[in-house]
Amino acid sequence: MSIKCDKCKHDSIIFQRYSGMHLCKKHFVEDVERKIKLTIRKHYPVKKNETIAVAISGGKDSSVLLYMLHKVLGERPDIRLVALSVDEGIEGYRHKTLEQARGLADRLGVEHIILSFKEEYDRTMDEIAAWDREKGTCSYCGVLRKSILNRKALELGATKLAIGHNLDDEAQTIMLNHLKGDVARMVRLVPPCELEGLVLRIKPLRFVPEKEIAMYAYLSGLPLSAGACPYSHEAMRGEVREMLDDFEDKHPGTKYALLSGFDKIADVLSREMPIAKLANCRICGQACSGELCQACKLLGKQ
Ligand code: SF4
Repeated sequence: MSIKCDKCKHDSIIFQRYSGMHLCKKHFVEDVERKIKLTIRKHYPVKKNETIAVAISGGKDSSVLLYMLHKVLGERPDIRLVALSVDEGIEGYRHKTLEQARGLADRLGVEHIILSFKEEYDRTMDEIAAWDREKGTCSYCGVLRKSILNRKALELGATKLAIGHNLDDEAQTIMLNHLKGDVARMVRLVPPCELEGLVLRIKPLRFVPEKEIAMYAYLSGLPLSAGACPYSHEAMRGEVREMLDDFEDKHPGTKYALLSGFDKIADVLSREMPIAKLANCRICGQACSGELCQACKLLGKQ
């Protein structure tokens, strides 16, 4: 006999171990959408006449992000959504996800802009990866992507920059910062972290587990994956992911506990360690805490 949904008499399609609930397709979709809408309302309320830039790689997370923001805000004439994709220049990987991003933006009728490392920095990620360098490839990629997205969002007059970090990403980031003892970075994770010169980054998916994002994407006909980035194995994040997945398996709810525990101490953190006012990078003009921004430092600009 099939297992039934705990909210109705239909067949269950998922068992949420952390909540103890069996859910059918309808109630699962409702649950994911409720969590996303609640996160937007509680952490990132949308005011009148906002432009929201949405970072979309074309993978499942950012596709669900754009789809949901369009579902929630698409009918509001005073809100402009602009999808931003970044072509880092990773051979055999990025062009597939960019096609998916383009297809989804077209399907939803959302304006879509593709930015590229080659145009912005005059080098591709593949070229940077070949350098003799101290830091891992993902450190360069992450910093440069953040910088290019912020610059474009500012140029568009965006008041928010939405990114598709899910519960797993957030839990991994919190744990990584703990492992590195990087309290300053933790303070910047406190939502909403508003700093002059940086467009407010919002994470509407932060309370939805990665597996549920994948299932929601599948049920909604959204792109799932276009393979793994050839550099992904280099990141320390992979080790933390394995560790947290193992914990979640043995102790369901670990990732939620990590995130909600962090949110509880977030207020104290931001009160005790206020982020200093930002300056402008001497080379590129982007907001940063020192004389040079991280992107210019990594690119060796003096
Ligand atoms: Fe960039 Fe690393 Fe992500 Fe690849 S895995 S796209 S190199 S951050």
